[in-house]
Amino acid sequence: MNERQPRAIYLALRFGMLAVALLAAGLLGPRTFAPLHTDDAIALTVCLVLFVALLRINVPLLSGAYLRRRHLEPGRMTLELPVSLAVLIMYGPIAAAAINLIGYPLAVPADGRSRLMRRVLDGGAEAFLWVCVGLLRPHVQASVTPALSLPSFATFLAFYTVCILAFLSAIWIPLRALARRSPILPRLWRQLARDTRLFAFVLLTVSWGYVATMVWTRAGIALGLVTFAPLPFLATALRALHNHHLELHRLRLARDAVQAMLRTRDPLPQMNSLLASLHTPAAEETLQIYAAISADDRLSALATIGPIPDAEQLEHVRLALIELQRGDRPSSTQRTRSHTLAAYAVRGSGEHLLGALIVHRPPRTASLLPARRFAQAASELAPLLRDFRSIAATQNAASMDALTGLPNRRTIMEHLRERIEYVSVGNPCAVLVLDIDHFKAINDTLGHQAGDQCLRAVGAIIARNIRGQDRAGRIGGEEFVVMMPDTNSEMARTVGERLRAAIESTGVHHANGDPVTASIGIAVASVSDTVDSLLARADRALYQAKRQGRNRVIEIGA
Ligand code: GH3
Ligand code: MG
Ligand code: MG
Repeated sequence: MNERQPRAIYLALRFGMLAVALLAAGLLGPRTFAPLHTDDAIALTVCLVLFVALLRINVPLLSGAYLRRRHLEPGRMTLELPVSLAVLIMYGPIAAAAINLIGYPLAVPADGRSRLMRRVLDGGAEAFLWVCVGLLRPHVQASVTPALSLPSFATFLAFYTVCILAFLSAIWIPLRALARRSPILPRLWRQLARDTRLFAFVLLTVSWGYVATMVWTRAGIALGLVTFAPLPFLATALRALHNHHLELHRLRLARDAVQAMLRTRDPLPQMNSLLASLHTPAAEETLQIYAAISADDRLSALATIGPIPDAEQLEHVRLALIELQRGDRPSSTQRTRSHTLAAYAVRGSGEHLLGALIVHRPPRTASLLPARRFAQAASELAPLLRDFRSIAATQNAASMDALTGLPNRRTIMEHLRERIEYVSVGNPCAVLVLDIDHFKAINDTLGHQAGDQCLRAVGAIIARNIRGQDRAGRIGGEEFVVMMPDTNSEMARTVGERLRAAIESTGVHHANGDPVTASIGIAVASVSDTVDSLLARADRALYQAKRQGRNRVIEIGA
C-alpha cells in the first residue's frame, strides 16, 4: 500500500462519519425537535451545558488510563456517555447526535491546545454512533424500553454495551490504527485483550445512563437532571485529587533535590528533580535538559527522563536548538510522523541562550501539563545551568593542563593511585614517561611560542595514539606520562615505539632542521609497587634513554 493511502482512508472515513451525522441531524432534526415542550428544551439545554462542562473537566481524569489508552478515552466515556445515553433514550438519536456535534467543538481541551478540526471530527464520530444505535433500536424496541425490572435492566445493559463495544472495536480502534498507519487487526486484538477497564467503563456508563433515564421518565425531568449532578462533582474532585497528587510529587522531589544539593554542591540532582516533577509516570514523554558547558559552547544533553530518544529525534533537537540560538523566541516546535518535539529556551539575563528544556511526545498524546508549565520550568533552569557551567569550568581548570588540554599532574597522579591498588599478577599496569629531547634548544632558538606549539603537537600525538582506557597527562615542562591498564611490558614497548616514531615524524623541527624527538622510559607495575616506586623506575629508564643518545624507548623491569 502506498504511504499516503492509510491517511487518506482515515480522513475519508472520519469526514464520512461527520457528514452522516450532520445529514441525519439536519434532515431529521426539525421533526425530532418540533413536538418538544418548553421544559424539554430547557432539559436539553441543561444537558448540553453539562456535556460541555464534562468535556472540559474530564480529560486529565483517570489520567493514567487516559494516556495509556488514549484511543479509547475511558475518562470521557465514564462521564459523557451517560449524558448522551440518557438524551438518546428520552429524545432519540437525533437529539443525542446534535448534542455531540455541538458539544465537542465547544469544549476547550484540557491541555490548552486548540485542535478544532479534531474535536469536530470526534464529535462527528460519536454522533455517528448514536445515529447507528438509533437505527438499530426500533428492531429491539420492546426489549430495550427502560422499565423498573431486572430483566429490562439486563436487556438495556446488554444492548447498549454491545452497541458501544461494537462501535469501539469495529470503527473506533481501526480508525485510530489507520491514523497511526499501523496494522489494524493486531492492534485491535491487543487493545481488546488488554483493555479490561474498557468493559468496566462501558458497564458503568450504561448503568448510569439507565438510572438517569429511569428517574427522568418516572420522576420528572428536573429530578432526572439532578442525577447527573454528581458527574461534574466527581470530575472536579478527581481532577483536584490528581493536581494535589502532582503537587505532592513535586514537593517531595524538591526536598530530595535540596538534600542532594547540600551533600554535593552539584546542580545535576536538582535538574533531574525538575525533570521528574514535570514527568508523570503514565506519560510516554521524554524530557531532556540541554546546556552549553564545554569550552566550545556546543549544547549537549545533561539530563534525560523517559524513553531514550532515537537518532531522528536527536536530529530534530539539533534543528530546534539552532532555531532557538538564531532568534530570541521562547520556544520552537518540530513535528515528525513519530514525534512532536517542543524546545523551551533557557536564557540568561543578557538574552543569551544557556540551554533548553526539550519535550518529546508521541503524536496525539495529550500532555498533563500545559505549555506554560514547561516555559516556567525552563526559567527555573537558568540559575541551575549557570551554576553547572561555573562548576564545570572550575573543575576543568583544576584538573586540566591549559596548554595541551591533557589532564594535569594532579589528575594523572590520582588516576595512577587509584589504578595501582588494582594491580595483581593477571592484571598488569604499565606507565610510560616521555620527555622531549633538547627542548630547551627550541625555546632558545625559535622562541617560547614555538616551544608551546611543539608541546601542543606532542600532546595531540599522545592523545591520538593511546587506547580509550589509557590516561595521558602532562606532568612537567616537557614531560608527559601515559598510564596503560591491562598492559604488559611487550605491549607497553610497542606503544612507546609507536609514540616515539609518531613524534619524530610530526613535522616539528629544530632551528637546524632536525626533527623534534622524544625519549621514553617504561615501567610495568608489580604487586609491591607504589606510585612513587613505579614512577622512579620509569624515570630511571628515561634517564638511560637520554644517556644512550635520546630518541629511544627503554624499559626497566621490577
Ligand atoms: P633533554 O633532551 O635532556 O630533555 O633536554 P631538554 O632541553 O629538553 O631538557 P631541560 O629539562 O633542560 O629543558 C626543559 C625546558 O623546557 C626548560 C623550560 O624552559 C622549558 N619549558 C618548561 N615548561 C615550558 C612551557 O610550558 N612552555 C615552553 N615553551 N617551554 C617550557
Ligand atoms: Mg627534555
Ligand atoms: Mg625535561
